Amino acid sequence: MRDYSSYSFWLEDAGEALTPRPSLAHSTDVDVAILGAGYSGLWTAYFLLRHSPQLRVAVVEKEIAGFGASGRNGGWCSPNFPVTATTLEKRFGAEAARNLLLSMRAAVDEVGRVCNEEKIDARFHKGGVLTLARGRHQLPGIRSSYAAYERLGLGDRYQMLSATEATERIRVSDVHGGLFTPDGASLHPARLVRGLARAVEARGGIIYEQTLVTGFKAGSLITPGGELRAKRAMVLAGEAYLTRLPRLHRALLPVYSLISLTEPLSASQWSQIGWQNGESVASTRNTVVYLTKTPDGRILFGSRGAPYAFGSKIRDQQDTHEATVKMIQRSLVEWFPPLAGIGFTHAWGGPVGMPRDWMPAVRFDASSRIGSIMGYTGQGVSTSNLSGRLLAGLITNRPTGLETLPPAQRCSPKWEIEPLRWLIVRYMQGAFLRIDEAAEAGRPRPVDARLAEYLGRH
Ligand SMILES: Cc1cc2nc3c(=O)[nH]c(=O)nc-3n(C[C@H](O)[C@H](O)[C@H](O)COP(=O)(O)OP(=O)(O)OC[C@H]3O[C@@H](n4cnc5c(N)ncnc54)[C@H](O)[C@@H]3O)c2cc1C
Repeated sequence: MRDYSSYSFWLEDAGEALTPRPSLAHSTDVDVAILGAGYSGLWTAYFLLRHSPQLRVAVVEKEIAGFGASGRNGGWCSPNFPVTATTLEKRFGAEAARNLLLSMRAAVDEVGRVCNEEKIDARFHKGGVLTLARGRHQLPGIRSSYAAYERLGLGDRYQMLSATEATERIRVSDVHGGLFTPDGASLHPARLVRGLARAVEARGGIIYEQTLVTGFKAGSLITPGGELRAKRAMVLAGEAYLTRLPRLHRALLPVYSLISLTEPLSASQWSQIGWQNGESVASTRNTVVYLTKTPDGRILFGSRGAPYAFGSKIRDQQDTHEATVKMIQRSLVEWFPPLAGIGFTHAWGGPVGMPRDWMPAVRFDASSRIGSIMGYTGQGVSTSNLSGRLLAGLITNRPTGLETLPPAQRCSPKWEIEPLRWLIVRYMQGAFLRIDEAAEAGRPRPVDARLAEYLGRH
């Protein structure tokens, strides 16, 4: 059996033994069968049982609850949506964009509320989200985000910070300004997902672990031990891993996000850095940088970077792709020069599910009784709460007020077939890195920058 605690610091620090629950041993009938015990599957189960306690709900998980991204992420519970406010406005109009962003803000509070009510010790801390302009070239990006929030009537929840104001919050090198919202939280990802699993069980749900779903058909998940037959709905909530099912192979792209964690900082190191409020911190780098201050006083530094593997392969070795880990650890010291020589205790990562148009989708087809929830592009902690609530409502025909939001009942285009997929994705990964590096070095933008941005627009 795998040592599940080795998959992230969070799983190691989950405060429990991670002993797998029993697997599905024979064919069973339920009302709702859910593939995947990450946030998506568990929030769906939770809201189904909360509003319809008579339903028989079962979740099938190939490893243990929280094995996927839900047990490994950066701990941002963010009011930001995977697609920017500007793009939402362009694609869906101002009203839909505004409603979605308001629902995201509410989803952050809903996560905190459920943790409180269900006594889930997820260390939910509402420190806000701070996006830094690291380098002058990043200022236009945060200014245009702020302008979009203002146009949507959400400007009152965002504050443009001068370099001095940003530095008063956290002392990072080369900061030229920032954009702050108080509406985000940080949390302990594994404690949330493991606690959610227990909350589902406390409400009568059943979770079968170490049970691989090998296929599905209308009304049934197929596993080696038997079928999980569902009278009312069958839900696919396996995010990046769904690409392993032949019918969903091109629905998403598994893209790796990697994290390095420092040893706990000393009091004097913290006094040099500040960061007293524990904001979730990022820059506007194309290749994504996200930071979290952990409850025990370490810095978690995350980024994309592990190269896409041909055929959408998902392999444990990619979790610790050496060149990316080194790049992350170097970047941390560039951000915080006083931490030169700091020790790193953990490095891990995992695949996030990226749809071709970057848009998460929550679907339920009443005729086939198949539901699906997928495509958070690495921003699923709060989004999965919103999506699970929405899907539970769609399945039971109960209005949630979320069914008119852009993710409801939509379908993203499929990714290209190989080898075209590999060529496009590897090209985009390389091009975005070159764009970032040129901007940071003060060099002109690469000649193909517009092409890369067109291909990767979101
Ligand atoms: C390193 C990293 C950092 C991240 N940081 C953040 C962050 O700070 N904030 C944020 O909002 N988001 C972040 N994300 C993304 C976020 O964690 C995900 O969007 C979210 O956890 C997705 O939840 P999920 O339940 O949909 O998928 P998962 O958590 O991946 O769960 C899917 C589950 O389905 C199971 N499964 C899949 N296929 C099968 C099958 N065939 N049979 C049985 N079981 C199956 C898997 O084992 C897995 O447990 C990060 C992700 C990673 C990898």
